[in-house]
Amino acid sequence: MTAESMVKEIERLKREKNAVILAHYYSRPEIQDISDFLGDSLALSQEAARTEADIILFCGVNFMAETASIISPSKKVIVPDNRAGCSLAESIDGEEIEQWRRENPGGVVVSYVNTTAEVKAFTDICCTSANALKVVNSIPQEKKILFVPDKNLGAYINLKTGRKMELWQGDCCVHERFDSETVLEMAAKYPDADILIHPESNCSGDPAIMAMPQTYYYSTAGMLKHVAESDKRQFVIMTEKEIIHQMEKENQGKEFISAGSRALCGQMKRNTLEKVLLALQNEGPEIKVEGELRERAWKSIEKMLEL
Ligand code: SF4
Repeated sequence: MTAESMVKEIERLKREKNAVILAHYYSRPEIQDISDFLGDSLALSQEAARTEADIILFCGVNFMAETASIISPSKKVIVPDNRAGCSLAESIDGEEIEQWRRENPGGVVVSYVNTTAEVKAFTDICCTSANALKVVNSIPQEKKILFVPDKNLGAYINLKTGRKMELWQGDCCVHERFDSETVLEMAAKYPDADILIHPESNCSGDPAIMAMPQTYYYSTAGMLKHVAESDKRQFVIMTEKEIIHQMEKENQGKEFISAGSRALCGQMKRNTLEKVLLALQNEGPEIKVEGELRERAWKSIEKMLEL
């Protein structure tokens, strides 16, 4: 089957089954192009909750599909490949959070949304890379905070807020490669470019990098906004490189340089057009979070949304 005929069949099945396709910015370009909504994980789940679709086909990794199921319990959430995991989300489990709570009575657990449903169920409040500073600032100064799972985002928040949160030592295997040295190299090579850094990057806790006039820290959605609004013509992108597909589509004449030739998330790339078609045909594999686990996980997300 050609790519063109696959896309046609996907479109037909979507209509027939009242399905909606959500794709993360790190998805393969051909998947981004057939998606109904493109965004970061939480924005996608919120978008899905607003639609009238019966089926959500989530092209991302498993924790994102879990979040969609938590937010939209009445919809069927399916994925192209249920082996799509995440080094960051899998770095901690509920028992490890409980252990920390026993050692730190009264401590507050703040989890980045890049966590499993189980971890969310053991969390006090979730945050995204876009609202992390707001969430942390909402917690009284005297409270001790355990930030999970991303040590780099945690270090960035500590630097920006002056808090001394305890940081779980998890990391994203893609953003971990973006260290301070890489930023200095890119700045020397592209002196006129803005350097856009995702706070999951390894350099995020380095004050010298933060002080550089050409560095900016953004979530994926924040990066897209920056490049659209900036008068600059050249941008160094320090996040998963597939986001450049969208940047190029929306900003003709501007140049986007990926800061790493290996800045690709292999888990996201498990999703292919063939598997999207199969998932729609089979209405599976399904990802479902239900019962008490769903209720507890939802509470930590709801608390964040209330802010
Ligand atoms: S890019 Fe990193 S955080 Fe995102 S899914 Fe891949 S491993 Fe996980």
